[in-house]
Amino acid sequence: DLLVVGSANADLVIGVERRPAPGETVLGSDLAVHPGGKGGNQAVAAARLGAVTALLARVGDDAHGRLLLESQRAAGVDTEGVLVGGAPTGVALITVDPSGDNSIVVSPGANGRLTPEDIRAARPLFEAARVVSVQLEIPLETVAEVAGVMSRDTRLVLNPSPPAPLPDHVLAACDPLVVNEHEARYILGEAAGATPGEWARALLKLGPRSVVVTLGAAGALVADGRTGDVVSVSSPRVEAVDTTGAGDAFTAALAWRLGLGEQLAEAAAFAVRVGAVAVTRQGAQESFPSAEEVSVL
Ligand code: ADP
Repeated sequence: DLLVVGSANADLVIGVERRPAPGETVLGSDLAVHPGGKGGNQAVAAARLGAVTALLARVGDDAHGRLLLESQRAAGVDTEGVLVGGAPTGVALITVDPSGDNSIVVSPGANGRLTPEDIRAARPLFEAARVVSVQLEIPLETVAEVAGVMSRDTRLVLNPSPPAPLPDHVLAACDPLVVNEHEARYILGEAAGATPGEWARALLKLGPRSVVVTLGAAGALVADGRTGDVVSVSSPRVEAVDTTGAGDAFTAALAWRLGLGEQLAEAAAFAVRVGAVAVTRQGAQESFPSAEEVSVL
């Protein structure tokens, strides 16, 4: 079983002709409300593929929270672990202009109130999981607690997004650490090499048991700390219309297949196909495919 620990947000989107300057008011389109947040996205992506999936997250006792719970349940996610209350549901206020450029304000809200204590209280969920997938839209101390409560035969998949400095014991628990180019460069800083292969090797030196670097249309690189091997996995060629959520779909698919016992390169070969389908459709959760849709790609 897969346990996703992370954020759940309501994405509030308004189309505008021009994004407002300071002090300015502009009129926009009707409001669109989409379920989002990296944790929520990953849980929906995995469940839609057929994974037995639970979400550990926190939402507010409000309409957005109910919407998010409903979208998780509709996808088949076990929401017993979703805590309610303590702060308003996290939201992202998004304005998008006709060229697709956007301005975003995120209010973490309840995501920021998911505490290490909440993690300890959810021990049965961790005991039932083969793989735990976590991202950084919740407090870092909570992520550190996740790494701390993991049993030895459970695998931790971490996507450090948005990137932040990671304690050594968290890095050491990752199997794999999953990064895109931006996250790789952030973590490596000055030490970043010129090529993705160099990033992968440099990231392995920081202590994770394995590393996956996602490379958009170019697919992904997987690096195994046990062998030191770096393998390239190419993505199917598709017409991308919206890459929102592609990384979340990739990581969810990877985590699920690792939980089924696949090797890292094999799981990544499936995950790039899931990411590729996701970019052919608008939106985040709306764009995530079923296993059947992946098989016909
Ligand atoms: P993020 O969304 O986190 O920035 P990437 O852009 O690396 O991550 O995308 C994650 C995965 O989604 C890629 O590994 C790939 O499988 C798929 N993907 C993303 N963009 C494309 C694209 N233009 N064509 C095909 N696959 C893509």
